Amino acid sequence: MFIGLKPSQAIYMKRIWFAGIYLLVLVFLAGMFAGCDGKAAEDTGEQKMGVVVSILPQAEFAERIGGDRLMVTVMVPPGGNPHTYEPTPGQLEEVSRAKIYAKVGSGIEFELVWADKIISVNKEILVVDCSSGIDLIESADNSEHEGENGELNEEEFAGEAASHNYDPHIWLSPANAKIMTENIYSGLIEADPDGRDFYYENKVVFQNELDELDNEIRKILSGRENRKILVYHPAWTYFARDYHLELVIIEKEGKEPTAEGIKNLISQAKLYNIKLIFASPELSVKSAETIAREIGGSVVLISPLEKDYLTNMRKVAEAFKQALE
Ligand code: ZN
Repeated sequence: MFIGLKPSQAIYMKRIWFAGIYLLVLVFLAGMFAGCDGKAAEDTGEQKMGVVVSILPQAEFAERIGGDRLMVTVMVPPGGNPHTYEPTPGQLEEVSRAKIYAKVGSGIEFELVWADKIISVNKEILVVDCSSGIDLIESADNSEHEGENGELNEEEFAGEAASHNYDPHIWLSPANAKIMTENIYSGLIEADPDGRDFYYENKVVFQNELDELDNEIRKILSGRENRKILVYHPAWTYFARDYHLELVIIEKEGKEPTAEGIKNLISQAKLYNIKLIFASPELSVKSAETIAREIGGSVVLISPLEKDYLTNMRKVAEAFKQALE
């Protein structure tokens, strides 16, 4: 009996022992995971370099080069308008922790108003000018459009010219995007030399993709006689320069056109047989719709601020192609 009991007792003991071990393993694993989590959270806080950018396409550029080494903060959020946006206190706090501020640098209103403030929040921050090396286009308001909308707008134009002389939308040309990427890369290796090889490899891959994009857009838009594109907001000036398009612009730097301006645009659209009007989802499209109704055409929304740069630019090229038919 005694001997008979022994095996069951042994089994019982074994079970207790096994359960004990099991529990220990659980506790150990839980501890390890907790430790891991805690450590990982600390590591990301310590290792990831804070990079502040103004607009979403820049975030894409920075992330494509910096990957997991970076914590990118975008000042103008999705749906925000870089001509009018004001940062939140929370965003300025992000700035105070960042190593780099990559500004567009081409005179976009958000930066004209806020760049100094952003820099003053964090005096150590390395400021990267993404426009450095880009051939800037004089703002349309300075030159060719003065007479176009009649005298009413000339005063406004004079005011605009004083505040910013260049068209700020430099990122909407893959060739410019390549230069912006180069500028961001230079900033990254200056602030984080340990990541140099990593940044370099990623930069080369992304710049090759930008070259491919450029070739592709060239193909998409080639072979069409008509080069006129009617746009609401003059965001596509650099794009138009690269791909030999002629922009007919409705809005002038954030302002709706006058009644006379609209009349003028309608007759231009009719003259050139324009049926599509391109507007951005970030802005009001009231006058674009008015014109579309008058010419029996339609409004197509294209965004100059989409984060997924490559996909968005292809989409825009395809949309413009429809207008050139
Ligand atoms: Zn704009």
